Amino acid sequence: MVMNLEEITPEMEAELHRNVLTTTLDNVKAWARSNSLWPMTFGLACCAIEMMGASAPHYDMDRFGSFFRASPRQSDVMIVAGTVTKKMGPLLRRLYDQMPEPKWVIAMGSCATAGGPYVKSYAVIKGVDQIVPVDVYIPGCPPNPAALIYGIYKLKEKIRYEAKTGKGVTHS
Ligand code: SF4
Repeated sequence: MVMNLEEITPEMEAELHRNVLTTTLDNVKAWARSNSLWPMTFGLACCAIEMMGASAPHYDMDRFGSFFRASPRQSDVMIVAGTVTKKMGPLLRRLYDQMPEPKWVIAMGSCATAGGPYVKSYAVIKGVDQIVPVDVYIPGCPPNPAALIYGIYKLKEKIRYEAKTGKGVTHS
């Protein structure tokens, strides 16, 4: 049925507001992606113990749609949990390159963010953002599982914001 705009009554207009949703395809994709983030099973040091705790029953990260995957090919989030040594740096980059687009990186803890307690060590990279682009930084030594879940929440916000505005943003 084709109607002229003049024929729409106030009751029909109210009904349309209640029942019709308009959005863009980009927003729908961002909504779906942000609610099914799959981090790679990948830990470097003590922060990784807290990361494991986030998906254990007490914190139960799975309820937010985030499941750890054992392959970079099936992952869209890299959580860098621990100290990034100069030996490990190229391997980390290779894993990142093996992840399909779109992909995101969370730097978990002060080691991944800026070298942490090993900032003066010749063997440690002073922040994983020297190797891969980082979307969310989580402070702490170590951050607890709740902080990681909050970081994932901020990543969801970032994905949706970028789809809406086309602008990039970094959280810490
Ligand atoms: S930030 Fe602290 S807890 Fe995390 S890997 Fe470094 S030393 Fe360990």
